Amino acid sequence: MKRREFLKKAGAGTVAAAAAGAIGAPAVHAKKTIKWKMVTTWPPKLSYLQDAAEYMAKKVELMSDGRFKIKVFAAGELVPALQTFEAVSQGGTINAGSSVAYYQAGKTAAAQWFAAVPFGLDSLGMAAWFKFGGGQELWEETYAPFNVLPRPGGSTGVQMGGWFNKKIETIDDFKGLKMRIPGLGGKVLAKAGATVVLTPGGEIFTNLERGVIDATEWVGPLHDEIMGFYKVAKYYYYPGWHEPGAFVEYIFNKKAYEELPKELQAILDAACSQASEWTTAGFNAGNSKALESLIYKHNVKLMRFPDPVLEKLKVYSKEVLNEIAAKDPQAKKVNDSFQKFKKVVGTWGEVSEKPYYNSIADKYPLKK
Ligand code: CA
Repeated sequence: MKRREFLKKAGAGTVAAAAAGAIGAPAVHAKKTIKWKMVTTWPPKLSYLQDAAEYMAKKVELMSDGRFKIKVFAAGELVPALQTFEAVSQGGTINAGSSVAYYQAGKTAAAQWFAAVPFGLDSLGMAAWFKFGGGQELWEETYAPFNVLPRPGGSTGVQMGGWFNKKIETIDDFKGLKMRIPGLGGKVLAKAGATVVLTPGGEIFTNLERGVIDATEWVGPLHDEIMGFYKVAKYYYYPGWHEPGAFVEYIFNKKAYEELPKELQAILDAACSQASEWTTAGFNAGNSKALESLIYKHNVKLMRFPDPVLEKLKVYSKEVLNEIAAKDPQAKKVNDSFQKFKKVVGTWGEVSEKPYYNSIADKYPLKK
């Protein structure tokens, strides 16, 4: 076809389309703006947690060119921290949340596997299980009865083992120790004879200072430094065997999600992925920097749990997981999938991450 002929035909087509538009519905539909509220489990401005939820919401607004707006509220602003899941489940105007799956253990025991499992997968392993090990499907299946749809929200990385004022040299040193440690890790330490306390974040420092509790875990160096635990505890133990790759969750009201146009669902999913990546990288960068500050500026004594202590905790952890699985069919299904995947991926780590880090890492305290 000659260029001039082509242009003529193309032009005629455009006129025909415009005419059809004029006869039928208006050519340009004003697309409805969708507004959601999002509630979180986090205090305002908390790094890589509350601000990650805000980051996610901003991405949604940007990618949708303002058609989809999510307003983020910190814990207590609309609903209390631990009612995030319930609020999202009910829906209405609150159709999104940011939390951690182990907070939903009271609703469904299986939820805990999607957050952190003692001696479970690290952040790389968790991400792989979600995407390629059936984890995401099981997570959606676990939350479906509550009309909630989950998405991974990034990982804290391996957490720290906690703050202590006495050394942990044998497993018996946990006997009678009053420690703040939530979730499955708490159940494991209870087996070791500890008195497990569930102190809310805001009260931990004062309780540790006054001796109401003897020890606490929180997250990792970044958040622990902000909490100021180095002022009231001598020893900072690692590794965080109880939360080796804790994942945050974004949760959506399932019905509201399904009612979104397909492209807005895709935008929401993409924004979750971006925020998840931002969170995981942020924790990794922030934790390493903060640990240096804790060691050099605040003279914290960094301690490693002895191997026999970790071995014993591993035995108790397996018992705890099996006990929960024996009582709850969904927890059993999830644990079976998780353990099967961990066996393969964990063994791969034996010849990949583990020897690699052993060969390149400096030892703390780093020589300046
Ligand atoms: Ca923790």
